Amino acid sequence: MDLTLFHSQIELALEEAQATTSPEIDELTAQAGAGGGLDLRQAAKLLLKGKTNSLIEQAIKIKEKNFGQRVALFAPLYFTNICKNNCLYCGFRFDNKKLVRRQLTLPEIRKEAKALARTGHRIVLLICGENPHDSRKDYLSEVIKTVRSTPGIARVNLEVAPLSADEYAHLKEAGAGTYILFQETYHPQTYKTMHPSGAKANFENRINAPLKAVEAGFTEVGLGILLGLRNYHYDFLGLVAHAREIKERFGFYPSSFSLPRLKPALDAPLKTPPAPISDLEFQRLAALLRLVFPEAEIILTTREAPPLRDTMMRSGVSMFSAGSRTHPGGYSEEADHAPNKEQFSLDDVRSLDEIVGKLVDSGELPSFQEAVTPSLARPVSALNYQKNALLSFSEYLTGHASALTCKKGTALIRQILPKMNDELLSGEIIRKLG
Ligand code: SF4
Repeated sequence: MDLTLFHSQIELALEEAQATTSPEIDELTAQAGAGGGLDLRQAAKLLLKGKTNSLIEQAIKIKEKNFGQRVALFAPLYFTNICKNNCLYCGFRFDNKKLVRRQLTLPEIRKEAKALARTGHRIVLLICGENPHDSRKDYLSEVIKTVRSTPGIARVNLEVAPLSADEYAHLKEAGAGTYILFQETYHPQTYKTMHPSGAKANFENRINAPLKAVEAGFTEVGLGILLGLRNYHYDFLGLVAHAREIKERFGFYPSSFSLPRLKPALDAPLKTPPAPISDLEFQRLAALLRLVFPEAEIILTTREAPPLRDTMMRSGVSMFSAGSRTHPGGYSEEADHAPNKEQFSLDDVRSLDEIVGKLVDSGELPSFQEAVTPSLARPVSALNYQKNALLSFSEYLTGHASALTCKKGTALIRQILPKMNDELLSGEIIRKLG
């Protein structure tokens, strides 16, 4: 990637956006609401001058148009917290001597996957610290295969450090779904400060990695930034520019985006965010992301507190993590959280069943199937998402839900089914629900 061009595009878009007039913003917001997406310059204008309420309203409209009521659910599975890097915001950093290090064996990883499947989860995101030893393709392939072959688990996504093209191809072959890699910040100086040592200190290597993964065969990649490290304008536009580079080269956008906010972590030098972001600003950014990328999964994690997560159940967000643990062994071995082993602290520690119940209360339809990159062979539409959600949610209700969640979830499904005009589907689901 031409980094000089990359950065100058962002700077230019920011500079140009300063002069945007209010009527131009109104027109652009209405245009964004039509769901055609936004380019970098348009995104910059709404980023700087868009009206929060209008952005949120339009984001809700687009999410409903493209995904219906469906909200997908997933959980991270950490298989090691050993890391050679020293990111200033992370509990896994190499210099943190207070962290209890752990690498799960394949049988232990399987136990974790089984524990997640027992709760009803089907989409798992495999995560690990950055340890060159763990990046060997054969080891990672075995980890993927172990989780994929666990009964109940349908999709295994992967968030690991940059790899070679050959390694990516191997992992895709092993059954990895989406490859996710956060640049954290697109601002070179901030990146350098936050990542003082280890392989992650190489900005260029990291920004090129998702492109390499696509070249090697991944049809779904996910990007993200860590909010709070600096003023978010540059990072947000970096995310947009990065995604557009993928679209220009390969013809499709990344399938998912995340905007986690920095959280306290054990012994991390960065105790508080240098540039804190309020809840309202956070909602505004998530809404704008939906306007820019109308068809992608916009992800909201358990880093955020329950009241905000509940509010954002009806927003531009289409995917939630739920019942998460951020340390190895967190699902099968620990009854609760383990501050001396986890990557960062979580604000929403509710169970999957509780999150499912809350989604139903908000009128949203929990789903255990993720969005994929649309293609001729795999067209996606709100109707398809709703159907998949109805099927996977009815299976969740009969196999995993508490009595209360089962009761209200069944009522929601019965309310939605007649609107689907699909007798076959209705028959199948009614049979499932018994
Ligand atoms: S953010 Fe990732 S690479 Fe950085 S210290 Fe934490 S686990 Fe390691």
